[in-house]
Amino acid sequence: MQTVSIDKQIKPVLSGLPFDVLGETLKPLPPFRAEQVFQWIARGVSSFQEMTNLAIPLREDLEQRFSLYSSVISGRVEDPDGTIKLYIRLHDGARVEAVLLMDAEHRKTACLSTQAGCPMGCVFCKTGTQGLTRNLDSAEILEQFLHLRSIKQEHEPEIANIVFMGMGEPLLNLPELYKALAVLTDTRGLGISKRRITLSTSGIIAGIRDLAATGAEVRLALSLTTGDSKLRARLMPVTLSNPLPDLKKALYDYQLQQGRRITLEAVLLGGINTRQEDSDSLTAFAAGLDVVVNLIPWNPVQGMVFEGRPLREPSGREMRAYIQRLEQRGLKVTRRLRKGLSIAGACGQLGS
Ligand code: SF4
Repeated sequence: MQTVSIDKQIKPVLSGLPFDVLGETLKPLPPFRAEQVFQWIARGVSSFQEMTNLAIPLREDLEQRFSLYSSVISGRVEDPDGTIKLYIRLHDGARVEAVLLMDAEHRKTACLSTQAGCPMGCVFCKTGTQGLTRNLDSAEILEQFLHLRSIKQEHEPEIANIVFMGMGEPLLNLPELYKALAVLTDTRGLGISKRRITLSTSGIIAGIRDLAATGAEVRLALSLTTGDSKLRARLMPVTLSNPLPDLKKALYDYQLQQGRRITLEAVLLGGINTRQEDSDSLTAFAAGLDVVVNLIPWNPVQGMVFEGRPLREPSGREMRAYIQRLEQRGLKVTRRLRKGLSIAGACGQLGS
């Protein structure tokens, strides 16, 4: 599908429309026709002409009135560890990045973006230095998955998991994200299990409450980084408008409603949030919540500084001591594997 032309300004795009909306859009075509189109999009056909169970005049009519897609792959880089990063150009020239990761068991994970750029300004993240260009619409979110799937080699497995940990803060773009999720999880099309989809947030309380209320049923990860409010506000300005006590309450309520374990992510920055008081504050934040802690050694990006000091990776000793302190307090800890470093495709590097 990467060869299609993009002319969204002229014609409505079909790819990101949930099943019911697609049916409405295609009226007066009967529902079974809409289902056929929905299934073809899920298969990733390049054009209406490939929809072979539609009569040729109908294909031509659809082509006149609609676009299938709104983005194209504009570049691709590959790390020796198997990670692939795609540069994707949107209809207005904005660009996003999407990453395909492969773990030791050869399971593939698609890391998708929800915004072009990001307004959150987390100091350890390259995307955060760019500011927000704009929210992506549901087609632009969904198509990242289709693009990543389209580069599959014959012998390779299908994508097993989706994480919204690319560019942008997913919970600031919930209406479009919900639409994309509806398409991704619809069993009449892609049928991806909600349990295999994770949203990662920097801590937008209103968004967490929205997720709890709508019962989106996907997995939730919070990029906590430290439980020390003052330090967190300096590292992640979102803390100023979403204070940690209120954030914890929102997570607590979310768990009451959804009954789901939450992942607390901590990007570890050497000498900044690897102290004993940092692991203590993280432990205190986790108390009373059902969580697993995912530690992410900061992935280097040249020129990134925190209050005038260059950021650095945590040393092996800092990592080990941090993990040990959390485990001694009974927390379940995992460590994020480093993937895609050489292509700036690792966590926090997108947009480099
Ligand atoms: S870590 Fe996520 S929320 Fe923070 S600036 Fe980067 S993309 Fe935005």
